[in-house]
Amino acid sequence: MDHPVSLRRNIPALQYHGQNPTDSARVHKRILIVEDETSIREMIAFALRKADMEAMQAADARAAQLAISEQVPDLILLDWMLPGMSGLELARRLRKEELSREIPIIMLTARGEEMDRVNGLEAGVDDYVVKPFSTRELLARIKAVLRRTHGDDGDGVVELGQLRIDGPAHRVFAGDNAVTIGPTEYRLLHFFMTHPERVYSRAQLLDHVWGGSVYVEERTVDVHIRRLRKTLEPWKLEDMVQTVRGSGYRFSASI
Ligand code: CA
Repeated sequence: MDHPVSLRRNIPALQYHGQNPTDSARVHKRILIVEDETSIREMIAFALRKADMEAMQAADARAAQLAISEQVPDLILLDWMLPGMSGLELARRLRKEELSREIPIIMLTARGEEMDRVNGLEAGVDDYVVKPFSTRELLARIKAVLRRTHGDDGDGVVELGQLRIDGPAHRVFAGDNAVTIGPTEYRLLHFFMTHPERVYSRAQLLDHVWGGSVYVEERTVDVHIRRLRKTLEPWKLEDMVQTVRGSGYRFSASI
């Protein structure tokens, strides 16, 4: 089935060429901090940056949703007690939305709120950190959750089958051979390798790889899928990129 050429979100055809300046060489994990207390938020942001992570900040649920729609974070630190919509309610909503369904969430709770862990688990929260916490403890939890959910704890090295991505060096290897790869194909491959064996639609790939604030046609995805396959061809790994008819693409180690 040939898919129709559709412009996303009815925004006029603003074609996007070349690299996304904020995303092209991104090797750092991007963490969204949702916390109404400025001092805590800034303390966490400081600690994250020192640990070579990117910090996005939001003071309430609404700001968090807006931030996520613009740039999908790798993980969300979510305060339980927020003005307006609670952290728990926000977690529930994020789990229902396509764009945010798979973003790991660590809940920040005050003592006494621990009783609500059950509710949190139901809402799809991945872990808890009880206030007051040390930034060291928080970073350890973040890395553990990232390792569990992304297969990568922030050191940036991801392996799947014969392929290995060295994030900090921005290099890809097939066995011992360095692979020459374009910037968009690199981001696409990085996303696939950290999310293998699952089917993603073109729209989902656009959101995750290109970013929700960038407007490109869905057929752009096909162009870069073709280039990625060509990139992997010399090592006979092109079949790792699998077309799932009517649905999208899947990256698989079993070929
Ligand atoms: Ca709070």
